[in-house]
Amino acid sequence: MNLIDGKEVANSLKREIAAEVSEIVAAGRPAPHLVAILVGNDGASQTYVGHKEKCCGEVGFRSTVLRLPEETTEAELLAEIDRLNKRDDVDGFIVQLPLPKHISEQKVIEAIDPRKDVDGFHPVNTGRMISGLPSYLPATPDGILELLRYYKIDTAGKTCAVVGRSNIVGRPIANLLSQKGWDCTVTLCHSRTKDLKETVAAADIVIAALGSAEFVTADMVKPGAVVIDVGITRVPSDKTKSGWKLLGDVKFDEVAPKCSYITPVPGGVGPMTIISLMKNTLKAAKKEIYG
Ligand code: NDP
Repeated sequence: MNLIDGKEVANSLKREIAAEVSEIVAAGRPAPHLVAILVGNDGASQTYVGHKEKCCGEVGFRSTVLRLPEETTEAELLAEIDRLNKRDDVDGFIVQLPLPKHISEQKVIEAIDPRKDVDGFHPVNTGRMISGLPSYLPATPDGILELLRYYKIDTAGKTCAVVGRSNIVGRPIANLLSQKGWDCTVTLCHSRTKDLKETVAAADIVIAALGSAEFVTADMVKPGAVVIDVGITRVPSDKTKSGWKLLGDVKFDEVAPKCSYITPVPGGVGPMTIISLMKNTLKAAKKEIYG
């Protein structure tokens, strides 16, 4: 069994991005600039935005966080987005989700100029992705592709079972792996799938993205399979200082010995997500997707 080390891959990509940024700056051009809008006081969101800010610093990007109060109205947020769309000194921006309940996430996503949509959530970017056109890829699916690339895992002609059909993970990764170049034969499973166990057990590659701790057990994985665990569930633990630990969607201890490759949780897919945001911001600064 080979452990897929997301931290190692993330650090390697971070070094590549930092080297490119140095070249840009040495050539007299401004460093890429990422802006994050954070509305309200959600603790997890503040942590995520903090990580993004730190990573920007590490690769040499300029970063700005616009902190807006919980009471911000939808109209006020849309006006802020409009200003960022028009600012030449901002290459890309994200609106940290979830938003307070009185604001429509869909309206917000669709208000972002697709050229600056470095989260890759705008329908123009998802539409381009599905059509196989250049686009900003959503972070988690892109992170999974980077892991497969780094470990030179052969996907052509392989069968892949993706469990979970969310817009941010399951559906895009299922689509991407079925495209030319990756050439997988993909089955996208969800809560209404019949014979889910058998489908997963027959797959060469399993991507678990359902958010149910330790759902995938050893009897659901064929010997030699590649297992990518996207799930993150926080559970109480008396063995950690914090009083909780993270579990993936895969029962790691019993599944790992059967696999050819497996991602741990934490330390697998998680560290990759932020790197994809950095990759997209660099692409935005270089005007690589839309010219
Ligand atoms: P969602 O809750 O949006 O979607 C879950 C999907 O799983 C749905 O399609 C649902 O089916 C399906 N599902 C739920 N239970 C079952 C079941 N028993 N059998 C089959 N299918 C099931 O989740 P996300 O995609 O947002 O996230 C999935 C997990 O990945 C979460 O644990 C999340 O925390 C984690 N995550 C991790 C990231 C990382 O960086 N590592 C990034 C993003 C997410 P249906 O559509 O029928 O309801």
